[in-house]
Amino acid sequence: ADAQRALATAIVGAPGAAQRRAMAKTITLLESTRTDHRLAADALLNALLPFTGRSFRIGISGVPGVGKSTFIEALGLYLIERGHRVAVLAVDPSSSVSGGSILGDKTRMEHLSVNEHAYIRPSPSSGTLGGVADKTRESMLVTEAAGYDIVIVETVGVGQSETSVAAMTDMFVLLQLPNAGDDLQAIKKGVMELADLVVINKADIDPDAATRARAQITSALRLLGMHALHGHPDHAHGGAPAKPAWQPQVLQLSALKGAGLPEFWAAVSQFRDLQTANGRLAQRRQQQTQSWMWERIEAGLRERFRAHAQVRQALPAITDDVRAGRVAASVAARRLLDLSTSP
Ligand code: GDP
Repeated sequence: ADAQRALATAIVGAPGAAQRRAMAKTITLLESTRTDHRLAADALLNALLPFTGRSFRIGISGVPGVGKSTFIEALGLYLIERGHRVAVLAVDPSSSVSGGSILGDKTRMEHLSVNEHAYIRPSPSSGTLGGVADKTRESMLVTEAAGYDIVIVETVGVGQSETSVAAMTDMFVLLQLPNAGDDLQAIKKGVMELADLVVINKADIDPDAATRARAQITSALRLLGMHALHGHPDHAHGGAPAKPAWQPQVLQLSALKGAGLPEFWAAVSQFRDLQTANGRLAQRRQQQTQSWMWERIEAGLRERFRAHAQVRQALPAITDDVRAGRVAASVAARRLLDLSTSP
């Protein structure tokens, strides 16, 4: 407990080498699979909680090669010049499947990674996607307690990782290439709906294509927005008109040349101001922590269920019965659940 208190004190203390070491130690603890480490990490997180929540959390996604690391490096340095402290975390879905990495292998963000006002942590390298996302979310709290006021969570356009990152950030930014094929992909996968801001990167290569893509994505977003409005409780009959909500925007940018960064940051600031004023920022965070709690409950229940002695004993035979069609799946499930709750 003394060791944990020392870690917490160092994290919320002054920036510098000691703070960095304490952050790294804490994040290592919470990425560990050992139960005693997990308990220590939980105690630490709880102690840090009052110091969290003061940052702005930005999720950034896009296919490999779209320019995420180039963009994040340029943005990070731009923000540091303006007095911010920037943390960059990652959720790499490939790490949970193959143990390999889409995001982490190459030398990335060379200048940002050595800057004293930046803290960069690669994706946790093992576990399910849910586990990887959980640990990243917790690491985010650690960086906030250490006073990083901008937290960027990066992921790649594969599988469910984008949904996970959108569910832990205040604003979700989708990077796109300036050609039409990709936007259709994003719309099909339902990722476009998550985006608060779409950035068309590499606009320097083909400005005309970027302009066309911008128009196309803008109208796609408008269509998606109309769908969303229909189902939105704010607009239900008889309800009071809601304060204006943010409308997703599309920007063009060149991460390589650093062109468009001021416009990008202006849009982020506008989003933040509006969503703070209309209460949606706070609401989004409340919903996020609440559903995070439920995710953890469900994961914990599943773990306990599988570890339960009577369940483990009965499972093979009942599984055989279900596979052979002798017992209905629903009946088998109920029997096992009853076993798992018997003392
Ligand atoms: P990531 O896989 O999404 O992280 O993409 P990277 O940041 O590694 O970029 C992939 C390649 O695209 C690199 O060779 C970058 O130099 C290049 N790139 C990134 N942004 C731009 C840009 O705005 N314009 C041009 N021309 N190239 C870019």
